[in-house]
Amino acid sequence: METAISRRELLGGGLATVVAISPFGRLALAEEPRKRDYIQIGNLQLEVINPSDTQTPNEYVDPSNTGTPLIKVPRNLIDENITENFNLGEFARVHDPKKLRGTGMEVHSHKGGIYYAFIRLDPKLPGELQTLRDALGHPIEINCHYRPITYNRRTKKSSPKSRHISGQAADIASHGFQAVLYRLADKQFANGGVGRYETFTHVDTRGDNKRWNG
Ligand SMILES: [Zn+2]
Repeated sequence: METAISRRELLGGGLATVVAISPFGRLALAEEPRKRDYIQIGNLQLEVINPSDTQTPNEYVDPSNTGTPLIKVPRNLIDENITENFNLGEFARVHDPKKLRGTGMEVHSHKGGIYYAFIRLDPKLPGELQTLRDALGHPIEINCHYRPITYNRRTKKSSPKSRHISGQAADIASHGFQAVLYRLADKQFANGGVGRYETFTHVDTRGDNKRWNG
């Protein structure tokens, strides 16, 4: 996994680069210009990626076709604040790396954590979570945001159309403030999903009101 990452980073820059080993064993570089698209999410300008430009396009399929962009998570932005109290890494963290075994997915290893090199992320979600955090007045932990297809399938009780696959969901917790967090989330995500679980609250930006107890 580490090799795949370094190659991608080495070949970054203004061009899409194709590397091929010629029959003579020499490294040949063929470059063709590629237009890059960026999207502003909170404080950060992030590159929008076509799944077919990754090594595992099938992992990034959005079963709900929400149109949520797949974005690149550059290693040097992992610790950068996307909003006042949340950094990009909190949305890109792989909480259980075992669930990615055998997928060949591109990830970053950073300060003892594993992070997706690409995630779907609804541009509205970080701002919604910041508003919620401001209302709560206490730190909110993101237990889980993005889940690619295989990771989701290996997650117990997850729906095959989970909004985590679409980049619209976060499982959040605030130690000692779970009840008030749920109550505020219920108000804040009036046009979204809110699930009440014993140790966390699920919130998502699906666009219509859904409530459940997990
Ligand atoms: Zn969830």
